[in-house]
Amino acid sequence: MPLVNTKKMFEHAYKNGYAVGAFNVNNMEIVQGITEACKEANAPVILQVSKGARAYANHTYLVKLVEAAALECPNVPIALHLDHGPDFETCKSCIDGGFTSVMIDGSAHSFKDNIELTKKVVEYAHDRGVTVEGELGTLAGIEDEVSHAEGSYTRPEEVEEFVTKTGVDSLAIAIGTSHGAYKFKPEQCTVNENGILVPPPLRFDILEEVSKRLPNFPIVLHGSSSVPQEYVKMVNEFGGQMPNAIGVPEEQLREAAKLAVCKINIDSDIRLAMTATVRKFMVEHPDKFDPREYLKPARATIKDIVKHKLINVLGCAGNGDKCL
Ligand SMILES: [Zn+2]
Repeated sequence: MPLVNTKKMFEHAYKNGYAVGAFNVNNMEIVQGITEACKEANAPVILQVSKGARAYANHTYLVKLVEAAALECPNVPIALHLDHGPDFETCKSCIDGGFTSVMIDGSAHSFKDNIELTKKVVEYAHDRGVTVEGELGTLAGIEDEVSHAEGSYTRPEEVEEFVTKTGVDSLAIAIGTSHGAYKFKPEQCTVNENGILVPPPLRFDILEEVSKRLPNFPIVLHGSSSVPQEYVKMVNEFGGQMPNAIGVPEEQLREAAKLAVCKINIDSDIRLAMTATVRKFMVEHPDKFDPREYLKPARATIKDIVKHKLINVLGCAGNGDKCL
């Protein structure tokens, strides 16, 4: 099927208590690993491209890779989304260039300027059948060129005005997630009975207040990798150095997906799984030099981790043929 926007996906996800996974794509193996998992799990998916990904792989290559995935997986509803569009021009170039959904991240601007910028993108996008995600509140952490040392929680009292005045289709809010693989400092965490660091819980009170004010409106969580410790261990065991990498516990994301959260962004976990697999391969096979030999297991690991997310975290498996 052709690429779709997120409208019907989110309506179905909201009604049925799951979230659609939004995975960042940068190259062929990542696109294939993710979409193969969605095909097997019968899940809709959002493939998202950041400004950094466009700078790395080139807009056309990424669009064509995603279109190829749509041909190879004809039953998987796929939206091609711009992650953290920094300005109107970038959003316009993606809308004109085949994307079905864009995010305009005006969170660094004043509330008033954020509304104005988001509204401008919405008007352009809606005329062309493209859906738009906005952002209120700021996430801490680093993701490609998006970087904030300090986050600030979304203020629920602002959401109605923002959504009404801009006409956005979904809204990213800040409730304690953050970008990157180092979401929490060890001193912010408690230690459980197995000696594992447990980060502070997400602010479900903010999420509930937002959804009370905006019934049936899809909410987005950014920075929602869980940084599986088995992959951190694997990286460290095979020559890497990622001490104290900590993510958001998967149970909390599962809870959020049952509520108003309809899109959960996962990037670092895929990077981590891919790198861990390549590191292990390199150490175990120092004589090999064919990139296919190490990218093949890396792609298989991506597929495994995405399938796990679809089934156990997002809850979207089994809905691919029902959500359109
Ligand atoms: Zn983000």
